[in-house]
Amino acid sequence: MPRYSQMSKTELLKEEIDLKASYQSYCDMNFKLDMSRGKPAPEQLDLALDLLKITDYTGETGIDARNYGFLEGMPEARTFFAEIMGCEKEEVIVGGSASLQLMYFLIELAYRTGFPESDKAWKDYQNIKFLCPAPGYDRHFRITEHFGFDLVTVPMTQNGPDMDMVEELVASDPTVKGMWCVPKYSNPDGITYSNETVERLAKLKTAATDFKIFWDNAYIVHDLKDQGDVLLNLLAECKKYDTQNRVFEFCSTSKISFSGAGVGALAASTDNVKYVLKNLLPMLISFDKLNQLRHVKYFKNLDGVKAHMQKHRALIEPKFDAVLEILHSELTPCEDITKWTNPNGGYFISFYAANGTAKKIVAMCKAAGVVLTGAGDTFPYGKDPDDSNIRIAPTFPPIQELISATQLFVTCTKLATVQKLLEE
Ligand code: PLP
Repeated sequence: MPRYSQMSKTELLKEEIDLKASYQSYCDMNFKLDMSRGKPAPEQLDLALDLLKITDYTGETGIDARNYGFLEGMPEARTFFAEIMGCEKEEVIVGGSASLQLMYFLIELAYRTGFPESDKAWKDYQNIKFLCPAPGYDRHFRITEHFGFDLVTVPMTQNGPDMDMVEELVASDPTVKGMWCVPKYSNPDGITYSNETVERLAKLKTAATDFKIFWDNAYIVHDLKDQGDVLLNLLAECKKYDTQNRVFEFCSTSKISFSGAGVGALAASTDNVKYVLKNLLPMLISFDKLNQLRHVKYFKNLDGVKAHMQKHRALIEPKFDAVLEILHSELTPCEDITKWTNPNGGYFISFYAANGTAKKIVAMCKAAGVVLTGAGDTFPYGKDPDDSNIRIAPTFPPIQELISATQLFVTCTKLATVQKLLEE
């Protein structure tokens, strides 16, 4: 089929009629599918069900996990997450059931009190700026928006955030206080930051004494290919430049065991660990150590986690492949206008529609019963300046439904593209 961009107006009008008929036939199928969040499918969650059968709650050193204490986490859970994040046990705090809670806590702490290097609490500034590589994760943006910070969009490149821009922004403005990063298999583009990007982040010269990098390694073990991406260890890099207090790394088992009911953890310099624990103390006596211990007894170590993630991969790789195959085979008429990612890991395919059509495509899908992530949600304030990016989350639906939903998606994409060309 020729490309839409080469077609005459008459040809485009005919194509529009055919696509409208095809869209109507999808509407008649009465889909009811929510693909708005990157959620594991029930079969993925089933994989870890035996974890809940564990009833021995005595830790390696005799700690009774059923009782109060050990705010920093069960010692074996700290060792477990230290191995996953590639740091020392003393650099880890094992938290509750979600890493976002730890991120929120730290932003709130900075807002209320500041960090040890801060001149004053962040709430006492006229305005605080936070760098938001975009497209990115909407829940990150939401946390900093919630505290009234100005969200500064930094474009993503194939190597991570545009580092020239980052260096320039942080160098002169002391109100640029921090930055969100999903450094491995970024949400939604699936990009892993290059070694150079990580080194430049470690070396950044910042006007703010209390500039912090929120290093959300949510997809640290979530490979979809035999050769997964390798990410340089930011905390280790920072130690070379004595900037280790600038980084807070996060991960969780939300997409390893149970979403929102797994275990979240953070890694930071030992000074930061002390500061965070001191400030967690008024809030709680200890996190859920039963869940921490269950996880360690079940997965044992990084090798155990990796073996488990192979089972996830076996379930979700065919779904990614199915979506990619349909996009590839169906979107040839607009291959010069649309593009999408083929990630080595993570949870998303990031789709770039013709500028100005993403909202329309998502609305058409919704009207036909398939809810996608809102167009714009991957950008600060929910506003994609190009109205182009759409996050596709293939993991949750059963494969047959996913295939139908993707066919609907390509029909909507083609229709929106044709209509845009007709308007021009
Ligand atoms: N960070 C990123 C980048 C995510 O994509 C997600 C979930 O989609 C989370 C954090 C949520 O993690 P948790 O459940 O540990 O709060």
